[in-house]
Amino acid sequence: MEFTFTDEQRALQGLARDFFESEVRPVAAEYDQREDPRDCVPWELIEKGSRLGLRTLGTPEEWGGGGADLLTQALVIEEMARVDIGVSKTFSHNWKVSSRIAALCNEEQKKRFLPPFVEDHRYLLSNAVTEPDAGSDSHLPYDVPEAGPRCFAERNGKGFVINGMKTFIALAGVSRLCVLWARTDRSVGITKGLSTFIVPRDTPGVSNGRIHDKMGMRLYNNAELIFENALVPGENLVGGLGQAMQQRAAVAKGGNIELMSHALGCARGAYEHALEHARNRVQGLKPIIEHQAIAMKLAEMAMEIEVARSMVWRCAWSSGNLIPPDNRITMFSKVFCTEMALRVTRKAVEIFGGMGIMKEGPAEKYLRDAAVLLHMDGTNQINLIKVAKRL
Ligand SMILES: Cc1cc2nc3c(=O)[nH]c(=O)nc-3n(C[C@H](O)[C@H](O)[C@H](O)COP(=O)(O)OP(=O)(O)OC[C@H]3O[C@@H](n4cnc5c(N)ncnc54)[C@H](O)[C@@H]3O)c2cc1C
Repeated sequence: MEFTFTDEQRALQGLARDFFESEVRPVAAEYDQREDPRDCVPWELIEKGSRLGLRTLGTPEEWGGGGADLLTQALVIEEMARVDIGVSKTFSHNWKVSSRIAALCNEEQKKRFLPPFVEDHRYLLSNAVTEPDAGSDSHLPYDVPEAGPRCFAERNGKGFVINGMKTFIALAGVSRLCVLWARTDRSVGITKGLSTFIVPRDTPGVSNGRIHDKMGMRLYNNAELIFENALVPGENLVGGLGQAMQQRAAVAKGGNIELMSHALGCARGAYEHALEHARNRVQGLKPIIEHQAIAMKLAEMAMEIEVARSMVWRCAWSSGNLIPPDNRITMFSKVFCTEMALRVTRKAVEIFGGMGIMKEGPAEKYLRDAAVLLHMDGTNQINLIKVAKRL
């Protein structure tokens, strides 16, 4: 395993650090505290970051993106999420979805969908799977007709008419294109009855329901998507009918690494604030870091962050180099890293004392942001059940 970073990797890491320090840090807390989630989308930051290449960093190079590998992505995400996890996730979600389009779509589809995304600095992508009655069942499938997503795409001449609803969908209130999982056969379970479609957001019959009002990660938009007789051309079906689950398995490896890196960055951001506070805050006539209870807490935080970083780097390296990759490692590393972030951010809140829970201080936002990670891309419980099945 080789972790000597190239000049290019270090340059990208520095670019992300500088942009997030100079542009995102000064405004992130103010966006976070806006009451209406519609007002929390930092469009100016998205556009500025996009001009630096951050919105398309993980998009394959042949389609005009940065083509960054998973290890480079992890390095960049750590720097971004350290400042604000929501802006970071807004960028990296587009790396993930555009890479899926590049991996799964045919040439004609890629030519139709990727250039408009790459060229427009405000063009964002969504990936819609979860429904009000189908959450974990899409990640740990009960492969029977009654379970899993119900949103249905019915053949109609050369196209498909889509009806149903998706929930908790990242960027769905602001995205222009959606990779959609819809049922195309109700008589079988989801391993055979789910298909993937590319649906432009301006398709008649596609609308938003609620814009979700989350406790954390507030700069990362989440919304419901409603499909009412939305007619999608047959050319927007990805691959063959009934292949969605197999397609996801083929491209899933990046998802956990993306989340782990966010957990790492979030924990590091909280730790750095806590360390600085502990050096400056005087109680008992000395900086509180000189009290052993606080010093040990900080040492534990540093230890956990370092363990998580080793996991992230190892998983990112393995995904590119081990054939086949060992999916168990990324699954339980996602669990470890996200729960580590919750532990570390909670300790940061404690080190800040009363100021830890005040919105004017920096600590409480990290704790709220970390809590959101536990529920994303399959809950931690579901990830552990999947690991257990592979022991
Ligand atoms: C910030 C955020 C962003 C998201 N982005 C997207 C997105 O872009 N696209 C998308 O499609 N979805 C997205 N999701 C949805 C996410 O994938 C789901 O919330 C997640 O899969 C859990 O589904 P659920 O919320 O319906 O919980 P449920 O499935 O109802 O689970 C509730 C609880 O029961 C447990 N549980 C469920 N089934 C089992 C079982 N079989 N065995 C044991 N325990 C079980 C779960 O672990 C959990 O603790 C997002 C969610 C969040 C919070």
